[in-house]
Amino acid sequence: MHPNIWHPFTQAKTAPEPLKVKSAQGIWLTLEDERQVMDCISSWWVNTHGHAHPQIAEAIYQQALKMEHVIFGGFTHDPAEQFAEQLVPHLPPGLTRVFFSDNGSTSVEVALKMAYQYWRNLHQPRSTFMAFDGGYHGDTFGTMAVGSRSIFSAVFRDMLFEIEYVDFPATYIGDAAAAQTAATALEKIESELKTQRDRYAGIIIEPLVQGAGGMRMCRPDFLQGLRKLCDDYDVLLIFDEVMTGFGRTGHWFASDRAAIAPDIMCLSKGITGGFLPFAATVCSEKIYAAFYSDDPLKTLYHGHSYTANPLGCAAAIASLKLMQENQPKFAAMEALHQQHCQQLIMHPRVEQLRIMGTIMAFDVVTPSKPGYLNTVGRQIRDQAIDRGLLLRPLGNVLYLLPPYCITEEELAMVYQAITEILDGLA
Ligand SMILES: *Cc1c(COP(=O)(O)O)cnc(C)c1O
Repeated sequence: MHPNIWHPFTQAKTAPEPLKVKSAQGIWLTLEDERQVMDCISSWWVNTHGHAHPQIAEAIYQQALKMEHVIFGGFTHDPAEQFAEQLVPHLPPGLTRVFFSDNGSTSVEVALKMAYQYWRNLHQPRSTFMAFDGGYHGDTFGTMAVGSRSIFSAVFRDMLFEIEYVDFPATYIGDAAAAQTAATALEKIESELKTQRDRYAGIIIEPLVQGAGGMRMCRPDFLQGLRKLCDDYDVLLIFDEVMTGFGRTGHWFASDRAAIAPDIMCLSKGITGGFLPFAATVCSEKIYAAFYSDDPLKTLYHGHSYTANPLGCAAAIASLKLMQENQPKFAAMEALHQQHCQQLIMHPRVEQLRIMGTIMAFDVVTPSKPGYLNTVGRQIRDQAIDRGLLLRPLGNVLYLLPPYCITEEELAMVYQAITEILDGLA
């Protein structure tokens, strides 16, 4: 470990030396020792079009020559206006207001504050949120609070505000109970809202795929049911699309795949194609209107030094353009996963295989306890690196989440390597 660096999610005492990356191009990372590693997880799910894409690099460079940053309170600029104008037509209908920040956690914090204050501003204060078992929304205090309690947040437990957890109806290919699980989950939510709806400012969910919680997937009709409950009981629906946004589910957004619109949506990871830390919280006019007032206390008093950073906006605009060009690629990846998985699903080490757009995941059957600390993930990670693949299982959940530039040959190589790794597990 470098004597001046503290790595994220890392126990420095027991962790192996981090691998030093010299450069990255497309799907390939080049390590200091010249080894090539294929980035099968888009570097923590941010990279969408491949590394060092020249069009995004050029857009950032051109913007930096003109204006690298400027205060966004009392000032505005073209990059922010253009990005907002170009983003909105791709968003679910009704989401027309864009609030900028700089990472996924802050985009969720903003969503929570918007929802909470919305009800205060309407003089109908509501005190809590409903969230899903297994959810992950970030590492700041508010986002830890609405996330599932886990080893990530255990030490801070007493500092986290109370919320109500409900079951996430996780499902997989061949799950005969899927419809029932979803119906039961909706019934439980409804019975809570029936008697307690005035407690709830909103319901927050990672739509279709819970990322850090283990790539757990639910069906679009569950989200439709949830939307209907939120309408019926007048509770705000917040979609944390930090991971699912920008093509990950095979559609522009998970909301599109479910054919519904939330009231508030959080976007980050893929927003700049993986180039710069950037984020947006988008909401409907209904929410915006509750803050639009002569009363200064109705203001959303939230902002960050780098809000609407012009370089971030320029990268995001360039990435939107590539999204349009790459739409056939990210839309086609689900079918490729399905082809490869016809074999893989029969492997004795593979359980609960699931696919959503560009994401494939399964539980590795292991004799030891499943979960984030399960050591089979570590073994797989090491063996993958030896084969030139970056995989980073979440405990015993192995998943693929590649950049959209991956070729059919490369994807076939990855599946071949995964099969061999599973075959060789002790
Ligand atoms: C990664 C993630 C976050 C947090 O984003 P950061 O940029 O890491 O703060 C929030 N929500 C979801 C669904 C995520 O996957």
